[in-house]
Amino acid sequence: MNTIILLGAPGAGKGTTAEGIKAKTRYVHISTGDMLREAVRNGTPLGREAKTYMERGELVPDDLILKLVEARLQEGGRDESYMFDGFPRTIEQAKLLAQLLAKFHAKVDYVFFLDAARDVLIDRLTGRRICRECGTNYHVRNIPPKREGVCDACGGELYQRPDDTEETIVNRLNVFRKETEGLITFYDEEGVLVRVDSAQHRDKITAEILEMLEELAGP
Ligand code: AMP
Repeated sequence: MNTIILLGAPGAGKGTTAEGIKAKTRYVHISTGDMLREAVRNGTPLGREAKTYMERGELVPDDLILKLVEARLQEGGRDESYMFDGFPRTIEQAKLLAQLLAKFHAKVDYVFFLDAARDVLIDRLTGRRICRECGTNYHVRNIPPKREGVCDACGGELYQRPDDTEETIVNRLNVFRKETEGLITFYDEEGVLVRVDSAQHRDKITAEILEMLEELAGP
């Protein structure tokens, strides 16, 4: 069981990078943001609780997030390898993840920190569009679909996330700085942090990460 983490501010390209890695490996993609959005869509008790935090761009409480992650790991078990996206987001979550992985005799192998300047992040988030059906990411200028508003991959409708508005974006970036940025030092001290320049083309980012994954045994 290998475990990698995609770490970065909102808009750093975690989701797009995860798509690239998924296409070339057997890593199971665990995006806590996607799982929460699904829970909100399905109106589950967890979804109802998470919704207000998400609308404000605040972090959802750790216990709810851990429940989601633990259930997912238990489902896949030791034979899978995992790629976390958007988790952990606090040092507390990182410690809880380490405890959880220890139950599977596993640890975090690499943390890829996608580093980008604030103006790049804002541009990416305001222009981001996502397929309602298959979740593929687009950008109105940088990664436009062939037909406006329609997914190239599956023909699904493209939508803008409700938290990708200017006001919520500013709050999410502040939350990243306050709550998540400390993880860079945390994982650097553990010797697993790899910095990746997120201003590069997405194919280059994926290639850089894949090269490092080749060193790990497994998928
Ligand atoms: P994301 O799709 O990763 O940008 O996440 C969207 C929203 O879901 C965030 O702004 C948070 O409200 C919530 N969220 C996602 N992952 C986490 C997490 N690991 N911890 C707390 N809240 C999270």
